[in-house]
Amino acid sequence: MRKLTSIVLLSMALAATLLAQKSGIYKEDLDPSCKPCEDFWRYAAGGWLDRNPIPARQARWGTMSVMTERNRERLKTILEEAAAAGPGAPAHVKQIGDLYAACMDTAALDARGLEPVRPVLDRISAVSDLNGLRALLVEFQMNGLSPGMLVALPDLKNSKQMIANIGTGGISLPDRDYYFRDDPRSQKIREEFVKHVEQMFVLLGEPQDKAAAAAQKVMAFEKELAGAMLTNVQRRDPYARYHKMDLAGVNALTPDFDWKAVYRLFSLPESTPVNVSEPEFLRKLNAQLTSVPLEDWKTWLRWRAVKTAAGMLSKPFRDEDFRFSSTVLTGVREPLPRWQECANTVDRTLGDALGREFVARYFPPEATKRMTELVENLRATLREELEKAGWLTPETKKNAVAKLNAFYAKIGYPDRWRDYSQVSIRRDRFFESVRSAMESNRKYQISKIGKPIDRNDWGMTPPTVNAYYNPTMNEIAFPAGILQPPLFDLEADDAVNYGAIGAVIGHEMGHGFDDQGSKYDADGNLREWWTPEDRRKFEERTACVIDQYNNLDVGEGLRHNGKLVVGEALGDLGGLTLAYRAYKRSLKGKEGPVLDGFTADQRFFLAFARTWAMVDRPEAARLRLNTDPHPLPRFRAIGTLQNMPEFHKAFGCKPGDPMVRPPEKQCKLW
Ligand SMILES: [Zn+2]
Repeated sequence: MRKLTSIVLLSMALAATLLAQKSGIYKEDLDPSCKPCEDFWRYAAGGWLDRNPIPARQARWGTMSVMTERNRERLKTILEEAAAAGPGAPAHVKQIGDLYAACMDTAALDARGLEPVRPVLDRISAVSDLNGLRALLVEFQMNGLSPGMLVALPDLKNSKQMIANIGTGGISLPDRDYYFRDDPRSQKIREEFVKHVEQMFVLLGEPQDKAAAAAQKVMAFEKELAGAMLTNVQRRDPYARYHKMDLAGVNALTPDFDWKAVYRLFSLPESTPVNVSEPEFLRKLNAQLTSVPLEDWKTWLRWRAVKTAAGMLSKPFRDEDFRFSSTVLTGVREPLPRWQECANTVDRTLGDALGREFVARYFPPEATKRMTELVENLRATLREELEKAGWLTPETKKNAVAKLNAFYAKIGYPDRWRDYSQVSIRRDRFFESVRSAMESNRKYQISKIGKPIDRNDWGMTPPTVNAYYNPTMNEIAFPAGILQPPLFDLEADDAVNYGAIGAVIGHEMGHGFDDQGSKYDADGNLREWWTPEDRRKFEERTACVIDQYNNLDVGEGLRHNGKLVVGEALGDLGGLTLAYRAYKRSLKGKEGPVLDGFTADQRFFLAFARTWAMVDRPEAARLRLNTDPHPLPRFRAIGTLQNMPEFHKAFGCKPGDPMVRPPEKQCKLW
């Protein structure tokens, strides 16, 4: 026995030594013909990018897309087994199997044509006066077809409490600016959009000329709504979205709309406070109720009904939806394989039921342990950085450290899984099954109003390859899906893990102190906790990043909107700085090893750039520049590293090199 134990121990020790030596850098992924100080992104990932062109089914492709598809393959295994499981299978397994099977049965979808959406279309047709329209808009709060939806959100100034929130909605293009921009590409998209709406009406059985007229009405209606919405930069200011009132207040804003009936629909007490994120929008909506002819309202509602259902109807609807939403807007050439589409649908609708199977099979407990260590090391490092930050007054410093200490870290998956017993799934009723799940999800969300916040709630499902910071909960979350190679590699040397997942952790922590997050305190309340002097200095730092991204040439004369991407860019800069210092801290004064010919610092930065080995189709890149608060992946790597003296030192870059911003212009968060 003793001998056996020692052999086992010895072999484990050997294995650990061998594993610790894995550099985690793959030379074939590099492009040595490109100098690291010229374009580090290309140097670090050029080989990989050349071998991995964007597939016809995708708008962008990169390291994280490969991880996403790997997870989807795993979901496929789970779902195919669930679909084949016998009557003894657990209820949630049967539900995901049935929904997947229903989704895969495209022959059944094709045979039903537009029958699934017929009941909603009939409801719309039956409306004969303004009161009927009002009642319908209340009813459509449940299925999401109403503009200005009521949802549950924490009170921004009393974040422990969930209240009602009325947002904006009802536009079909990606952002309000798409209705107004004058550049040729935007004009072309509007033309294509009108054609698309027209085609959908033709599929609904309208004659061509009526369909064309209807499409013009839809465009005009949505343009009015869009004109009353804040721009995506204005929306970044949480104070611009905070207008808490009571039911009487919201009724006064929209005298022609029956919010009392919406409260009744969701069984909310009339004393429930509500935040109206954009009062101007509600005023406009109210004006539309009386100024837009009833027939035009009905036309628009029919369009929204068919648009939201198109992906679940017969092939002509699915194809037309794909043509506009994917090909015109993002340049995608062919649809996702059906099984991928269906795995996504189950993930979106029965996320906890699928997620619990995913983590049971593919998320080892060691991952949680290792992630917790990394998070805590970054937290301790940031605490040290804040405490020695010379530019902050002691008062602001104290508040910043309190906020950092209160960061709540979620790793992998929720502690409790949701119960879907209210959802009815039938293999021969795909559309109705999805609607049942959506309605149940909607009621579940609304049921949170009036209660304290629930830490068990996640904003992403477990297989998701992403992470987030939620300012009102003051929490950072890392779904199981992102905790896998190459971002998180239990077998690789620390340098690459700090450069990849460490920078992601740092990025999410950085959001706690970005242009938006810095306005929330340790409890997640919207409150100014910076002294005016410190706030001014902070804004100088953010202005540096805004200026940098406004001026980065991304090709074809295009630029980022610095004010739109500043939060993400600050997260990247603060996050990478923090991850680097945390890595150094973990070495406790020792030198990191040289592996595969790279120093530890070099591997750290190579791993960071590899995370952003990702390319968009030109159409998708333009869409993102207009709407996405994240800079394009290539510039997340380049823009961040241009500001990092530690990177310049690791690769011997000199002032004047493209990867070095002039020292006096280098931006710094901490
Ligand atoms: Zn972010």
